[in-house]
Amino acid sequence: MPLNLTGRIALVTGASRGIGAAIALALAEAGADIAVNYQNKAAQAEAVAAAVIATGRRAVTIQADVSDSAAVTAMVRHCEEKLGPVDILINNAGIGLIRGIDDLTEADFDTTIAVNLKSVFLCTQAVLPHMRARNWGRIVNISSGAARGAGGVGPHYNASKAGMEGLTRGYASRLVKQGITVNAVAPSLIETDMVRSGLAASAARIPLGRFGTAEEVAQVVLMLIGNAYMTGQTVAMSGGLAFN
Ligand code: NAP
Repeated sequence: MPLNLTGRIALVTGASRGIGAAIALALAEAGADIAVNYQNKAAQAEAVAAAVIATGRRAVTIQADVSDSAAVTAMVRHCEEKLGPVDILINNAGIGLIRGIDDLTEADFDTTIAVNLKSVFLCTQAVLPHMRARNWGRIVNISSGAARGAGGVGPHYNASKAGMEGLTRGYASRLVKQGITVNAVAPSLIETDMVRSGLAASAARIPLGRFGTAEEVAQVVLMLIGNAYMTGQTVAMSGGLAFN
């Protein structure tokens, strides 16, 4: 049975490009209405919303820095006003500041933890009241192979994604009785701006012989959303690079 999300409202953070944009489109193709969050790239967010609307679904773009508590509160309220309460939350927004141990600053560390980890706490807390009231919800957190492996970004990034997986399990165990699942997807080396713009990554390192695509990540997200029995899990995907 293909996944049918008709009547569901999905909020995808960092949906203006890359993995988030692909997830937004895949959710729309499955029938959901989409709130497209972004930080700076308004035109790209509008293009994603237009593509969602072309599938016959509703869409709204919402500018918000997901590391800012007041901005997250306003984002969720805006989504509720324009589309309705959030049924599906995809915590995808993230940054990968590439740093070596000797040039990693306290500011880099704090920013990374705020954008990649605190945002997941803020967005989850903001959408939970409505999910709990309806006894249904799906939360998918976009982690990384770096949560468990070395990765090429730096220890601050490893820590942010490992923390995200801790939040995933903590929320999953407390929400399962209310029909809310919380899972993570941990991709490695997906061909987006994040990989193109800095990581000295080579597809030759990947046993499959190529980078992953944002659409392949979206496919796993949809698989998790369609499954009511699976919660608290991290699904890794890396073209055979790692099996942890
Ligand atoms: P990307 O192409 O750099 O896109 C990042 C997205 O996050 C953009 O939509 C950006 O908005 C948004 N964003 C960044 N900071 C934000 C903030 N403070 N508030 C709101 N939105 C913010 O990245 P990507 O490769 O698609 O990565 C998406 C997620 O997957 C990230 O969490 C990343 O850590 C994770 N991931 C990526 C890979 C990979 O190989 N690409 C591997 C593992 C995990 P603007 O466009 O407005 O700037």
